[in-house]
Order: sequence, then structure tokens, then C-alpha cells
Amino acid sequence: MTRDIDALTQVEDGRPRNYVGGDWRATDGDPGQDVVDPATGATIARTPFATESEVDEAVETARAAFDDWRSTPVEQRIQPLFEFKALLEDHQDSLAETLVREHGKTRKEAAGELRRGIENVERAIGIPSAMQAGHLQNAAPGIDETAVRKPLGVFAAITPFNFPGMIPLWFLPYAVATGNTFVLKPSERTPLTAGRLFDLLDQSGFPDGVVNLVNGGPDTVNAILAHDGVEGVSFVGSTPVAKHVYETAATHGKRVQAQGGAKNHVVVAESADLEFAAEQTVGSAFANSGQRCLANPTAVVADAVYDEFVDLVLEETESLEVGPGLEDGTEMGPLITTEHRATVEDYIETGIDEGADLLLDGREWTFPDQPGDGHYLGPSVFADVTPEMTIAREEIFGPVLSLIRVDDLDEAYDVVNRSEFGNAASLFTDRGADAKRFRHEVEAGNLGVNIGTAAPMAFFHFGGWNDSFFGDLHAQDEDVIRFYTDEAVYIERWPDA
Ligand code: NAD
Repeated sequence: MTRDIDALTQVEDGRPRNYVGGDWRATDGDPGQDVVDPATGATIARTPFATESEVDEAVETARAAFDDWRSTPVEQRIQPLFEFKALLEDHQDSLAETLVREHGKTRKEAAGELRRGIENVERAIGIPSAMQAGHLQNAAPGIDETAVRKPLGVFAAITPFNFPGMIPLWFLPYAVATGNTFVLKPSERTPLTAGRLFDLLDQSGFPDGVVNLVNGGPDTVNAILAHDGVEGVSFVGSTPVAKHVYETAATHGKRVQAQGGAKNHVVVAESADLEFAAEQTVGSAFANSGQRCLANPTAVVADAVYDEFVDLVLEETESLEVGPGLEDGTEMGPLITTEHRATVEDYIETGIDEGADLLLDGREWTFPDQPGDGHYLGPSVFADVTPEMTIAREEIFGPVLSLIRVDDLDEAYDVVNRSEFGNAASLFTDRGADAKRFRHEVEAGNLGVNIGTAAPMAFFHFGGWNDSFFGDLHAQDEDVIRFYTDEAVYIERWPDA
């Protein structure tokens, strides 16, 4: 155990604590899951799994806080969010460091992630306008009608390991600004950043019980899904778990939005600026070591420019600096666990077995002078991939880029649309007509034109189609405000008026 992790308020004897009703509480649950620094392989904490009764305590505490909180004027409800935003900005560097320690990404990636999280706090501060519904005078003879949005109660969010600073902030600020109370269950593999967010929430002035944190694993999640006191659940994680959460939460009568895995594509048209497209494609495929739901690990390239594009991609990829995320100059960090690295290596083997041409093998990357036993894997590039191959279809969630050759854009869009997923896609082109067709024909929720990674700002919802999303209302912006409220319509007549 390193000293700085132990010194965090929310950690006791290396075990992250829960935050319930304004208090940090140790859990009696299962000793749980090791939190490992991916850069060194050292265990830095161990996440205990909260028991069913501890989940119950957190939900009941949040329920008890709901009545007062929903009656608190909205202008007062957003004041702690102003404070929270300021604290997040003041502590950005140390938060980013904690994030890198438990996740492995680079410091720059961690800072970027936190910035996107803060954007959501800013967006939620606009709730007094955004929560307004509508009013119509004389909707019928002598009758006025007014729609209002009301909070519903306790909402929970269950989040993944790969953006521990940003993804909780896709939900928490909106849930509480709209007048609900909240329980977060972060990834057991990266609980420390979430704990630090709650340290700052604790200083932001929320009344006790409005924001709560429980650590845990699958059983903790299932206790949340089954709890009668939870009105709705936001989930982000892999597709099989997203389906499970969607079905189970719905069976228990809850609102649910469940974001799943992805297998995104970039399409490179003949007219594209190839150098720019290659730089953006490599950036998108290998940022966060490929552990991103918006990564584009499959490039579908027009035959006329394929060979030139492959050369540019190789040149760009070979120059990447792989190493510890906290070290200056590192452009790609290690993978989250040794088990996950083994899974990615198995995919590389499968790609070779199925006949793809491995031009660059990340398993042969050398990492001089690395301390400890980090989970490093260099970037890999496959050419001559076909859409039927496993590496083209399944989410690898690691630094593996597959290049597919197509005759034209018809074939390219067909390849993209055959995917089971639909989180994101990007097109590189110099022609407006290509872009217009792309926008109309490609079936994915986040679409980029001449953008490597199509990540919407917080004032747009975060798309996701097919097996990348289960539900109706997405994360961020207007969608999540609707998710956290229900509308009532007042129909009024005053005969004397
Ligand atoms: P994961 O599905 O393993 O875990 C996500 C959460 O689900 C965690 O909090 C975990 O405790 C819980 N969980 C895991 N197994 C469970 C089970 N059997 N029953 C109940 N709960 C369970 O995902 P991960 O590995 O942490 O994250 C990576 C995945 O998340 C990738 O598939 C990635 O594409 C996806 N992701 C999607 C988005 C998006 O916006 N669509 C964003 C980020 C990550």
C-alpha cells in the first residue's frame, strides 16, 4: 500500500469506504477486488463489496433526504454544484494523479476526462431553465395548461472502470439538480477517483443523504436493481451487463438507461486528407490504450488510397511512446489488468489465425526501465481484415487497429451498418456529398466528420444505438433531464376571470 492512497479521506486500511448520509463508513462486505496500479502491477487498495443491507441503508438514507431536497428551491439546489465545480477545478491535478494511479491512462488523458466531467456540472447548473416544461394560455375556451417536470426520488448509477472521473458526472449533477437524491456504485477496479469526487461533494454543501456512494461488485449492483426504493438506474459498462441491468431493473419497475460496449469504425474516403485521417485514426484507436467506448478500432478505407493510408498509419503508430501514465512524454499507458491484457493478446492470436496480416505486433513492443510489473502492451495494426473476422466484429477494448479495404462508400457504409453495435462512427472526406450520405445512412448514435473520436459535448446527449444502448433516454443534456423527471400537466379554468 502506498502512503498517498492511504492518506485519502475515503480510504481506511487500504479499503475505500462508502459515503452515506454525509458520513464515511467502512463496509462489512466481502473483501472484494484488488485495485492495482497498472503502471507497476502493485496493489494499491482493495475494494470491499457492500452487502445488501448496506445498499439498503444507502437507499433508505437517500429516500429520507428526498422530501426536503425536492422542496428546496431549484436556485438553492444548484448552489452546491457551483461549489463542486470550483473544487473540481482546484483539485484537478491531484484528481488526475489518483485517476492515473488506478487506471493507467496518461496524465493528459486524465485531465481531459475531468474537463469533460466538469462540463456536465456546468450544464446541470443550467437546470432552472432546462427543467422548465411549457405553458399555453387559452389551450381551450377559458382553459390554460401548464406542464411541469418533477423529480421522482432516488436514482442510482453504476459505472465502468475506463472513465472513473467523467462517467459518474454524466449523471449525478443532473439527478440532484432536478431534485432527486442519488447513489453511485463505481467500478470496483477504479473506486478511488469516485471516492475523491465524494470528498469534494462532501465539501460542496449538499444536505446529508442527497449524494451517496457504495462500493461493490455484481452482488451490490443486483441489490440496487432489486431495491424498491430506487426509482431509476443509469448504467455504463459492457453489453452483456448492460442487457442484464436493463432487463432486471425494468422487471423491478424502474426507469433504466443502460449504455453498453462498442465496435466503432472510421471510414476513409478517397478524397480525404490522408495524413490528417491517419493521425486522427491512430489517436482514436490507441488513446486510453484502446479502452474507450468511443475508440475507432476499425478503419474502413477506400481501395484507391488504402496502401498509402496503411503506410501513414504505421508511421504514426510506431512513433507512439508507451509507458507509465504519470511520466512526461507518455502517449499510451498500460491496460487495466493482466487478465485484460491476456484477453487482448488472445484476440491478436485470433486475428492471425483467421488470416489477417499483422503489420505491427504490440506483444513485441519493448519497455525499457519500467518499474515493477506493469500491464503494458504496445499498439498492434492488422491489415487485410475482412468484416466477418472476429477482430472486426467483437469489442477488443485494447490497442488493436484493424484495416479493412473497400471499393467505395456504398461498401464502406454497409460494413459499418452490419455491426451489432452502434455507438459511434467517423468519416474522413473532402466532399460534402459523402458527409451528407454518411449522416443519413450510417446507423450509430455519435457521428463524426473529419473527427477521430465523435464525443459530444455535455450540452448534447451521448448517443448510442443497437447493442451499444438499451433504453430510450440517453446520458447528458436534455435526455438525462427527462430521465430524471416526470411531467405533470395542470389544466386550469377560472370561470370568474
Ligand atoms: P463491466 O460491464 O465489466 O462493469 C461495469 C459495471 O457493472 C461495474 O460497476 C461492475 O461492478 C458492474 N458489473 C460487472 N459485472 C456485473 C454483473 N455480472 N452483474 C451486475 N453488475 C456487474 O464494464 P467495464 O469493464 O468496467 O467497462 C468497460 C465496458 O464499458 C466496455 O464494454 C465499454 O465499451 C463500456 N463503456 C461504454 C460506454 C458507453 O457510453 N456506451 C462508456 C464507457 C464504457
